Amino acid sequence: MSGQFADVVVVGASHGGSEVVIRLRQGGFAGSIALLGAEPHLPYHRPPLSKAFLAGQTTVEQLHLRSAEAYVKANIARHPSTLVEAIEPSAHALRLHSGERFGYGKLVLATGGRPRRLTIPGSDLQGLHYMRSIADVEALRPEFVPGARLVIVGGGYIGLEVAAVAVRHGLDVEIVEFAPRVLARVAGPELSAFYEAAHRAAGVRLRLSTGVEGFEAASERPGHVGAVRCADGTILPAGLVLVAVGLVPNIELAQAAGLMMGNGVVVDALCQTSEPDILAIGDCTEHPLPFLAGVRVRLESVPNAVEQARVAASVLNGAPKPYAAVPWFWSDQYNLKLQSVGLSQGHDRVILRPARSPEGFVAFYLKDGRMIAADCVNSIQEFNLAKRLVTERVIVDTAALADPEINLKTLMPAVA
Ligand SMILES: Cc1cc2nc3c(=O)[nH]c(=O)nc-3n(C[C@H](O)[C@H](O)[C@H](O)COP(=O)(O)OP(=O)(O)OC[C@H]3O[C@@H](n4cnc5c(N)ncnc54)[C@H](O)[C@@H]3O)c2cc1C
Repeated sequence: MSGQFADVVVVGASHGGSEVVIRLRQGGFAGSIALLGAEPHLPYHRPPLSKAFLAGQTTVEQLHLRSAEAYVKANIARHPSTLVEAIEPSAHALRLHSGERFGYGKLVLATGGRPRRLTIPGSDLQGLHYMRSIADVEALRPEFVPGARLVIVGGGYIGLEVAAVAVRHGLDVEIVEFAPRVLARVAGPELSAFYEAAHRAAGVRLRLSTGVEGFEAASERPGHVGAVRCADGTILPAGLVLVAVGLVPNIELAQAAGLMMGNGVVVDALCQTSEPDILAIGDCTEHPLPFLAGVRVRLESVPNAVEQARVAASVLNGAPKPYAAVPWFWSDQYNLKLQSVGLSQGHDRVILRPARSPEGFVAFYLKDGRMIAADCVNSIQEFNLAKRLVTERVIVDTAALADPEINLKTLMPAVA
């Protein structure tokens, strides 16, 4: 076959892709490795996009996960600005947007996801933004100025993080959320109420239980957004709109190649897809969780992408070590550092433990007496212990959990 070839080709050069190629080499892989990604940048940290990078406290260089030299030293061929258009599993080859073909021995899909787009009237107006990449933040920045009226559609983590940066930067900020509370898809009502209070105290307006019906052009700036039309008839003036209504996994490549699909590319605990020689990792996958028998999830978090990269590298290096981590996630808003562990869905009890700091919050979620998840704000000790309690599926003393006078360490089973 004409064109290039590598023994392992990774599609998607971000948290998952960068980690798997480096881990593969560290594990002793001696063959050729190629990392193909559509973006022009070195693989970079995505979480700061809605935090320090948007706030102007971090440069593009500081976002890089690793230096260019680190890939050279590991003998990894990077192919930035390279869009893969199709997989031909029977030929073990990729078709690139450039028209070239790229052969592989083993393929790892780390294609992540893209923001869910709105298609309601006015969605094509200028001034409407999404946030997933450096390019998205750079497009937003010229309009992200003190005094600008920003309406954020969606009160999930990205919407809330952008609101926190924006209001501190002097923008006039309103969040419009369809659900009756922020973070409704991912957190319990207690945590939602905590963040609603924090945002209101900072000057962010929250319009909950409100759908968005369309966007209207500004009379003085044709073609540019000037207002958001809500389903209840309210018109909110807006010079700038951020739409943050969730993620669509990039599964089209895998789907067209005939791989099994669920809520993402279906993989097992070894990140293997239904197609021999093709693995998949990160936000684009649906996978089993070892600590919750029978549960399959698609997680959108850096720790998950990194854990699956470790698993895929171990498989490619011939020493498979299945997925073992408990999901966890963080979010930074104002001076509030949230760390969440486990999955709270299906809990039958919530225990709020008074936090040790006035700006803290601790909620433990239990099922059948065992801790299955925890949300901890500015409470690192509680988070670290909750992580162990969730991982080890300990039956916990609920009275002790709620009592700030009792050290959580005493709830850990003694190590034999
Ligand atoms: C603003 C923001 C804030 C976040 N904050 C947090 C946080 O605080 N904590 C946390 O844990 N997680 C956070 N996340 C989520 C986290 O960034 C993702 O879970 C993580 O990036 C997933 O990594 P990935 O490698 O699976 O996919 P991605 O990071 O989505 O990378 C996929 C890459 O594949 C490329 N690609 C896709 N298709 C092709 C193709 N056909 N050809 C070539 N290249 C392709 C894409 O261009 C992209 O570069 C945040 C995400 C965003 C956007």
